[in-house]
Amino acid sequence: MFIGHDLHKQLGAHVRQHFPSKRCAIISDNNVAPLFAKRVRQSLKSAGFQPTLITIAVGEKSKTLEHAGTICDQMVAAGLDWQSFVIGLGGGMIGDISGFVAAIYHRGIPHVQVPTTLLAMVDSSIGGKTGVNTRDGKNLIGAFHHPTLVIDDIDVLNTLPQREFNQGFAEIVKHAVIADPKMFQTLQRWTATDAVALQQLIKRNIKIKSKIVAKDERDLSGERAVLNFGHTVGHAIERAGDYRQFLHGEALSLGIVAACAVSNKKAGLPPDQRDAIVDVLAKFRLHTRLPKNFPRNKIFDTLKFDKKFESGKIRFVVTPRIGAAYLTNDVTLKDIREAVDQL
Ligand code: NAD
Repeated sequence: MFIGHDLHKQLGAHVRQHFPSKRCAIISDNNVAPLFAKRVRQSLKSAGFQPTLITIAVGEKSKTLEHAGTICDQMVAAGLDWQSFVIGLGGGMIGDISGFVAAIYHRGIPHVQVPTTLLAMVDSSIGGKTGVNTRDGKNLIGAFHHPTLVIDDIDVLNTLPQREFNQGFAEIVKHAVIADPKMFQTLQRWTATDAVALQQLIKRNIKIKSKIVAKDERDLSGERAVLNFGHTVGHAIERAGDYRQFLHGEALSLGIVAACAVSNKKAGLPPDQRDAIVDVLAKFRLHTRLPKNFPRNKIFDTLKFDKKFESGKIRFVVTPRIGAAYLTNDVTLKDIREAVDQL
């Protein structure tokens, strides 16, 4: 894991220490590639690699099996074999599909994550979950495939649109609420566009997520599931908005507010702590209320079909206080409905 400034230029040198093979694919989207692919490619060439750039259209609609198949075809045509490797250059969408391609190509070749969004740096590039969407839902097909290397070049965040930058803070607030009361205080005081503070914050989040993932890599014991705090309602809102109305982090923010209301009722989260969480989300210009005309009923249609929903009760992550979280079966659809009604 490397984190710092001007790292794209040194990427070839870092990668050379891990891979003997010359051939690799850089997978990116058509927003990110024009910004950074030339520099990354040049760095790889200078280090003796033969990179092939594969670009797909921006957005979730590209994160499909069909696109993964087309990318694999292009990799075959470019002569990549079982010793080659894949570099994902982009946000979480690219990280997920490039990781999935790396997981299935020749039954698995190494993956290098080069995240270019805040969300990807603090969340999606860590933990080895890769995948694509299907007609019926997000990330329904995928594989666990940990990256061999993650290279976070902070400079790339300078071109990230403000709304995309802010949504990364939803995952950061989530990490603070479930695991780090000190970081929560840092966020309460946060004023900064200070690059040093941002770099430290990213590092802290990588540590938090890595530590949680290490306890339960395959998401089996329930320990990793605390990372889903806010996601049950957040995903349902994202879907009810047809994935257009809210970005992932914006929907997550609303999901966190709902999870706080449920936590207040079911886990004893003190009202002042719930209010503090809502204030911090608002501070990063994240949504804390649903628009009046939002189709709320659609949220429940999605929830009822949620696989986590078993015999009237749902596996739901609650927080009893800032800095702690646990998974419980003791939450009903009625509890969630009450929480969503307050949004
Ligand atoms: P994204 O990858 O779609 O990127 C958001 C937008 O920002 C895109 O338009 C992209 O082209 C643009 N962009 C990216 N970097 C840029 C830069 N530096 N400058 C200018 N524009 C830039 O979205 P995201 O929010 O990064 O990731 C969301 C995806 O991550 C979803 O597919 C979600 O399912 C996935 N995800 C995965 C995990 C995991 O554990 N695997 C966790 C959370 C989210």
